Amino acid sequence: MKRLVLSCILLLGRYAVLPVVALAAGLLFIWLISLDDYTRVALITAPIMFCVVAAAVALALGILFVPARRERSNVLDEAMAPALWRIWQELDPAFAKPTRTLRFDAEFNASISEARGYAGIFRQHVTMTVGLPLLMILDERAIRATIAHEVAHAELRHITGAGNLFDFLRACENVLHYANPDRTITGRIAARLLRAVLGWVNREYLALSRQNELAADRRAAALMGPSEMARSLVLIAGGVARLRELVFSPLETDMLGAISLPATPLQRMSTHLVDIRDHDALTAAAAKTIEEESMEDPNSTHPPLRASLANLGCATLPAVDPIEAPAIARLLSPDAARDLSAQLDAEWRKLAQTRVRLGG
Ligand SMILES: [Zn+2]
Repeated sequence: MKRLVLSCILLLGRYAVLPVVALAAGLLFIWLISLDDYTRVALITAPIMFCVVAAAVALALGILFVPARRERSNVLDEAMAPALWRIWQELDPAFAKPTRTLRFDAEFNASISEARGYAGIFRQHVTMTVGLPLLMILDERAIRATIAHEVAHAELRHITGAGNLFDFLRACENVLHYANPDRTITGRIAARLLRAVLGWVNREYLALSRQNELAADRRAAALMGPSEMARSLVLIAGGVARLRELVFSPLETDMLGAISLPATPLQRMSTHLVDIRDHDALTAAAAKTIEEESMEDPNSTHPPLRASLANLGCATLPAVDPIEAPAIARLLSPDAARDLSAQLDAEWRKLAQTRVRLGG
């Protein structure tokens, strides 16, 4: 039953609140009919009915005012990342330039999302975000495999589901915009119900998301080959562990009690690039991840590395080719590589400055 409701939400998005609105309308209809014959009962239940109707109206209004999700910052145009755009075009059968946006951020990760125009009725626009650290540390082969995985999410319509879920949650939250939980009883009841609904929708969605990750890997493996996908998974898992060790843990320590800003994460990555990319240390870190990770984390959107590798036919950690030349030199124009790092450094400094000031 829960899966059925979740499927409805993933399919209908914000419009999944309409059955609830219809139910409230039905209740109102029955209540109005019973007004003549059972006047006392109807009058006693009037306050409840009033709350239900108010909540339903707020829910219905909420559909219209879900904010747009399209990210317009940190965009990578074709002049900045010609080869990256080319790889996307090669791997995406539904590629059409006007409906695609490429972005960058400071994560050691890539992601894909979808946005539709106003009220969710216009055509889909797909945005892929590629982290600059991913391009600095990994090679072109691993980036290709990663993009194939992201495109598979879009092809399998996982991102449509995720987008619809996001819309549904926002539409529900809009109830509180019209019925303030601090001032109205309707708002208070709605807030409590909402918390319960969001709790289980979120749990179900995380479980589904882990299955989607495996499905996207299998789909991408059909195109790139399972060993190429397994290689990218091992390199990313190893990279995450090495970055934690060489960049983020020392950075946390340096930030504690700092009075001036320490070196930025990207500067640290550049300094330790050879160590981070060192093949033996990287694969040893991936092996340690497999040893230490739990079987399945119910709070994670991603399955454990062991399960992802088993999904591609690897019972144990496979031996993989070392990382070749960093992808950034091949996939971004030299000017873009320098400018983007400077921009991300400036953004990080701005945020970190507040933290240092607050701490000091
Ligand atoms: Zn994924």
